[in-house]
Amino acid sequence: MPKKIKPMSKSKKIARQPATPKNNHLNETEHKKLQTERAQVHTELEHLRAELQTAPEATGDAVDLAVYEREKNLALVKRLEQKLAEIDHVLHHAKKGKYGICERCGKPIDPARLAALPETTHCVKCKNELEQLARRAAMR
Ligand SMILES: [Zn+2]
Repeated sequence: MPKKIKPMSKSKKIARQPATPKNNHLNETEHKKLQTERAQVHTELEHLRAELQTAPEATGDAVDLAVYEREKNLALVKRLEQKLAEIDHVLHHAKKGKYGICERCGKPIDPARLAALPETTHCVKCKNELEQLARRAAMR
């Protein structure tokens, strides 16, 4: 009886060590958090879009309510789309090694702020200034 010889293929995969990061990258927890959030926002968006497409035909008073619901959903879709864009943006920002660095002034963003708002790419100071500018622009 011939002995079956198992090939001794032990091609070791060399674990490649990433170069010591000089830049700020997302750590695994942060990355996961953002991915989870992204998935959630995405699911919610799909759900809302589907709902908007299958708007039931309403009559009488129900029309107003349906219109109101629809407008509410549209606003929500807009907000979620924006959030999705922000998450994509911060992931892109992080890929460049700039996670936690303010896009506007280049200073580190307060870790507490990042923990609460992982999709942010601005420090509090810049965010406030940008909001003020936006408000001023809107008043014109
Ligand atoms: Zn800043």
